[in-house]
Amino acid sequence: MSARLNANTESEYPTGFDIEKIRSDFPVLSRKVNGKPLVYLDNGATSQKPLAVIETLDKYYREYNSNIHRGVHTLSEEATTEYEAARKKIKNFINANSTQEIVLTSGTTDAINLVAQSYGRTNIKVDDEIIITEMEHHSNIVPWQLLCEQTGAKLNVVPINDAGEIIVEEFERLLNEKTKIVAIVHISNALGTINPIKEIIDLAHAKNVPVLIDGAQAVPHYKVDVQALDCDFYCFSGHKLFGPTGTGVLFGKQSLLEAMPPWKGGGDMIRTVRFDKSTYNDLPYKFEAGTPHIAGVIGLGAAIDYVSSIGMDAISAYEADLLDYATKALSSIDDLRLIGIAKNKASILSFVMEKIHPHDLGTILDQNGIAIRTGHHCAMPVMERYKIPATARASLALYNTKQEIDLLVDGLNNVKKVFA
Ligand code: PMP
Repeated sequence: MSARLNANTESEYPTGFDIEKIRSDFPVLSRKVNGKPLVYLDNGATSQKPLAVIETLDKYYREYNSNIHRGVHTLSEEATTEYEAARKKIKNFINANSTQEIVLTSGTTDAINLVAQSYGRTNIKVDDEIIITEMEHHSNIVPWQLLCEQTGAKLNVVPINDAGEIIVEEFERLLNEKTKIVAIVHISNALGTINPIKEIIDLAHAKNVPVLIDGAQAVPHYKVDVQALDCDFYCFSGHKLFGPTGTGVLFGKQSLLEAMPPWKGGGDMIRTVRFDKSTYNDLPYKFEAGTPHIAGVIGLGAAIDYVSSIGMDAISAYEADLLDYATKALSSIDDLRLIGIAKNKASILSFVMEKIHPHDLGTILDQNGIAIRTGHHCAMPVMERYKIPATARASLALYNTKQEIDLLVDGLNNVKKVFA
């Protein structure tokens, strides 16, 4: 049976979504790789950048490169204004209550470590318990393991079922009066599962337990409203949201952030410094020691403007259609097994093919200009759960097309021929 689902004749894209215009906004999409047009399906690792972001970085360095918050000269004032405007865009984008709740970090990893070391070291003691899940990225496992080593707390892990969904009853069983924090991924980067985080948050709050959400894979695809979720912490990375690398966000409820001690010490996070005692700055600066990635944060603001101009709901609808198409197309390939078939899934397709190592798959696809990721995706426990060393992963974004899925399918069928 042909895997091709006739992208050219099938129902085309949701109305109002101008895919050609969107693709033309991303310069890298017009390049060739190994003589073939680039098909970029590694968005879970990092996404490509639209011109609006690239030009924003360029303008910063050409016209007003300067340090923020401390200068009275024009360049410094311009940089500070743009930097703080970006913080406001982030606040509006996730509907936080105030910019004081938006701590700028170097990424999701940095944000989770901040919470583990500041909130965790203050509130979690020997014999207390922390709940994570079996599908977490290493960056939502290891910071909690470090905290457990430092405090004598215990790490409890919610198991997943064969489809790649967390078992909510197991979560309820693990949640008890010793639980001091729940840290859970919104969307799994290895499986694509969208977790029922509102339900998890409500269950945890019923026992007065705060919840941290790792939103790294969610914000590029869905509208996130931290007030509607009522989460206590929400973390994400700028580079997966079409912004620059080295930028990220920790949203925290103001009352929690107020009560937390600084994590990193240095410039900008202080009010006064004396050798006998220093005092600390107001939120969010208390958590922002040293010179940040100024251009990057301003660029992240431009990325948010960009996706907002298209509309997060339109992006989600477009990607749902694409995921549906891709799932059917990949499922039609003999010997291909999808890893992660949750009912509620985002546009990430992890798979293995019989007798072909994912690394070989990735290498041969690259010869055809197709970029996918292979490996454990920084989620070794997920690989262990399925008893596989690695998967191949195609992760989609707003600029991918059904034609590109067809090229992936053709590429995979070629790989099969090579290994036949
Ligand atoms: N969590 C998830 C679910 C991720 O996919 C990633 C990145 N692959 C991270 C956390 C870590 O993000 P970063 O490397 O940008 O800190």
